[in-house]
Amino acid sequence: MRLIAFAALLAALPGGALAQTPAAVEQPLLHTVVGQVEGERMRADITALVAFGTRHTMSETVSETRGIGAARRWTEREFRVISQTCGGCLEIVLPSETITGPRIPAPTEVVNVVAIQRGRSAEAGGDPNRVIIISGHIDSRVTDVMNFTADAPGANDDASGVAAVLEAARVLSQHRFDATLVYAVLSGEEQGLFGGRILADYARAQGWVVEANLNNDIVGNSEGQSGIRDTTRVRVFSEGTKTVETAAQAERRRYNGGEVDSSSRNLARYVDGIAERYLANFDVDMIYRTDRFGRGGDQVEMLRAGFPAVRISEGAENYDRQHQDLRTENGVEYGDTIEGVDFDYLAQVARLNIATMAALANAPMVPSGVRIEGAVKPDTTLTWSAVPGAAGYRVWWRSTTVPQWTHSRSAGTATTLVLQGIPIDDYFFGVSAISDDDYESPVVFPGPAGAFVSVGDPAAPAT
Ligand SMILES: [Zn+2]
Repeated sequence: MRLIAFAALLAALPGGALAQTPAAVEQPLLHTVVGQVEGERMRADITALVAFGTRHTMSETVSETRGIGAARRWTEREFRVISQTCGGCLEIVLPSETITGPRIPAPTEVVNVVAIQRGRSAEAGGDPNRVIIISGHIDSRVTDVMNFTADAPGANDDASGVAAVLEAARVLSQHRFDATLVYAVLSGEEQGLFGGRILADYARAQGWVVEANLNNDIVGNSEGQSGIRDTTRVRVFSEGTKTVETAAQAERRRYNGGEVDSSSRNLARYVDGIAERYLANFDVDMIYRTDRFGRGGDQVEMLRAGFPAVRISEGAENYDRQHQDLRTENGVEYGDTIEGVDFDYLAQVARLNIATMAALANAPMVPSGVRIEGAVKPDTTLTWSAVPGAAGYRVWWRSTTVPQWTHSRSAGTATTLVLQGIPIDDYFFGVSAISDDDYESPVVFPGPAGAFVSVGDPAAPAT
């Protein structure tokens, strides 16, 4: 969203709804972490990953120089090197599963490489069970998805995402947060999103409250198939209604709204707001879809587990450089080589991820148990459960046809707010939690349609 559109929109709002300045104040730390991102380090990462020849899920695992095994071990070593710079702050785990499937004919061990930076303890005011995950996939492919021997550099798909994950670990491990940050390098994406499923299973087994998954897949190319270079935009895909929505919840939502206010969608709005505030000449294009048309990514498995998740992808893809045998045909070069990666652009995408993670991790958890009432009344009332560690709350609303939250009012420390003279029928509403140092959570839409905790949320009414 560009500011000018935002301002025009405010001016266009009807009387009675008093426009207010968005609550979030500038956070120096977020400018600091944005300034610490270095594209050259990500160039080194992708150079190293490409040098493994192929990282196909079924490629060899014994060699130290070729194949997915060597690439995974390299990733693990990188995490260990990063951890040495923060007093061992990263715990490295290798969740795995032996998988056979339509695209994996022989039983194959699919292994994720995951680094965990625990949040402050509860005694220290933190909430280490609240988890923010950045992910990318390490496996690569050529034209034939079953070909595990040909060179498959996968520089953009998705060594670029892995490089963003590693850069996030480098930058954010130098700071401490209330929430836990997870840096996830996933395998088996091209063979059926297995790494995403293994991550979701691991998160559930750990009892993690996953507040956000930022899945970075194909994030390093700035020149689209048309040949036009655009370094100023990135797409953030989010589902509108929840994969895990029950039939009863869907019936209620169809009637009262919420089809554009899933937790993932409001996470996308949050990412958009971070770009607006902390990145120059870089805009988020919110795409109201789970993924690109007919295509998938690991965030889909997180959504199936009920976790809020978005897919981050470059603004314009070049299909000659994806899933292609390395070759030249009629003067056109095919293949996902490192020449197709724009490291300044990739650095901007990494900055967006890193600032978003730091903002989320310093803010309180989003409110739960959000309820709204106001039918046949002139006023609208929101209520929610108190959030541990929150110093206050802010109620937001917007016209039902605009993409971003436009109006807000502080509720102070109360867990209810009456918006006098603002009819429930005419707007969509939500609430955020604010920390004592003015970090704000995403906005959560009332009821099951918007709740960030979808599974076993005691505050979410059944219908
Ligand atoms: Zn991919």
